[in-house]
Formats: sequence, C-alpha cells, structure tokens
Amino acid sequence: MKSSLLAALLITAGAADAAAQTYPTKPVTIVVPFAAGGPSDAIARILGDRMKATLGQPFLIENVTGAGGSIGVGRAVRAAPDGYTISFGHLGTHVANQAIYPLPYDMLTDLDPVVLLPSNPMVVVSRNSLPAKSLQELIAWLKTNPDKASAGTAGAGSGSHIAGVYMQNLTGLRLQFVPYRGTAPALTDLVAGQIDIIVDQASNSMQQIRSGSIRAYAITDRKRLAVAPDIPTVDEAGLPGFYMTLWNGLWVPKGTPKEAITKLDAAVVEALADPAVKKRLVDLGLEIPERDQLTPEALGAWHKAEAAKWWPIIKAANIRPE
Ligand code: ASP
Repeated sequence: MKSSLLAALLITAGAADAAAQTYPTKPVTIVVPFAAGGPSDAIARILGDRMKATLGQPFLIENVTGAGGSIGVGRAVRAAPDGYTISFGHLGTHVANQAIYPLPYDMLTDLDPVVLLPSNPMVVVSRNSLPAKSLQELIAWLKTNPDKASAGTAGAGSGSHIAGVYMQNLTGLRLQFVPYRGTAPALTDLVAGQIDIIVDQASNSMQQIRSGSIRAYAITDRKRLAVAPDIPTVDEAGLPGFYMTLWNGLWVPKGTPKEAITKLDAAVVEALADPAVKKRLVDLGLEIPERDQLTPEALGAWHKAEAAKWWPIIKAANIRPE
C-alpha cells in the first residue's frame, strides 16, 4: 500500500474515532410516528429531556404521523446512519406493521436496536354518555350496535387497533374502527363524545380517567395498576385472558456507529434510573424494564421473538392497511 494512501486511511479512521468520542455535537432527532401529546410522544419527550442532561445536546421530537406509524418509521430508516436520527416505536410500529403494510423496508434488518423502553397495559375506556357501567354492560351495549359502535385507534396496526381487534376476537364483537394519527386526537374525540370507545394505552387515558371525563372499565393485565387501583383487571371484569402489554423501544438506521448506540443506550439507562423521571413514568402507569433488559442486544432478541410471535397472529387477523 502506498504510504500516502495508508496515511489518508489512518487520518479518516482517526477522524471517525474523534467524531464518536465527541458524539453528539449537534441536536439529535427522535422520530415519533404518532401525534404530539399522545403516549409515544410523552415517553419520548420525558426521556429526551433527561438524555440532554447526560449527552449535552437537545433531543428534538419530530412527529411524523400516518399509516399506523409506518410513515414515521420509514423516515428514520432512510435517514443517515450517523446517530442523529432515532426511531421511536412499539409493538405496533416495529412488529405489527410489517405484517399489515407493504413496506419498502425491513424492520428487523434495516434498523439497529438501541434500547427497550417502558411498557404499559391497555385500558378499555368509553365516552361518559355511554350507558354501560361495567365491562360486561359495555360489551352487551357494543353487541347491540354491531358495525356502528366506534372504536378510535391510532391507525391500522397501532397498539389501540391491535388491542381492539383482539377484543373483537375474544367477544365476537364487530367494531367500526376509526383511525386517527395517534391516540391523542382520538382521546379528544372520546371526551367530546364523537366516538364510543378506545382500547387505549393506560398512560394516554390516565389523566382523563382521573378527572372523570371518560369512563374506564378494565386493565388488560393480570394485576391492577398501582396508580389506578380502582380499575379492575380484565379477569375481574369478566373478560379473562385479555392481556396486552404495549412495549416501546428506540432504534437507529442500520450502520449507525456502535459508539453512538452505546452512548444513547447509556443515556436512557441513566434517565430511567433518575427518581424524578421514574416518578413521571410510573405516575402514567408505565412499567420500567429491569436493568439487564436495557441493552441493544436485549432489544434485538426481544424484537425478533415478538415478530415471530405476532406476525402469524396478525396475518391471520387479515388487518387491511389504511
Ligand atoms: N402509541 C400511539 C400514540 O402515541 C397509540 C397507539 O399505538 O395506539 O398515539
């Protein structure tokens, strides 16, 4: 090898090293594929604020909405793999969508995992003017209005949609799904009485449940939520086994430098260990993963396992793209 070429290579390698050591040197964008003010947006903002304290740069939230979150994920997949664009997503966007939409990217191979984020169960909620007072009464009311009773969702394949489809399958209900660009706008319409129900992420509905502007029927978990102990579990409310936990995560475009991934992961670990951050998340009904789950490898393994579990189920449900 010519010495000038070798020198050039060494300089390039040195520059890449230096870039990794100083990363990040400018603001980092987190692409949230749902509307501002919703549950995905809330987690991304709470963590982003705290990650700034660790990494010294602002974390900007870009809400790229539509088609069950698949447009926002596509935006992140196509971004430069330099650590400055992060894809926020969940079971719906990063698993279910691939079994529903004809996507120009592959979730398991076009993104690199960074870290698993807090998860939360769903809660069945309705507009206050609906006559039901229990989950059994709600199901009976929905059955008297087949195809007319409306369920707001954050789009085909979103958490609220998968949970609604699951509830249909368990009960024989037929719901009219109304897709929004996130459950923040769906919740606004529920409060206004424009739609009948949402099978919503608990963290999204919690404030409106507390203020009494919507009615909660059941939590899709084996245990009650510590922050809302009055809401029965699905087992207690008469729909046993209707469990669903929506987990979240962060990914980066394939080929992002390892150093950037390590720093992002460490910043999330630090954020989730901060008592003030923990309190904000737990107050929303979110559960924080164990420390050993907070590695890129753990998210990679979990993501693959969830895809293997859910793709056949979702394909069998024959959910149509929006
Ligand atoms: N996570 C979505 C949002 O932030 C809602 C969903 O998936 O149901 O709006």
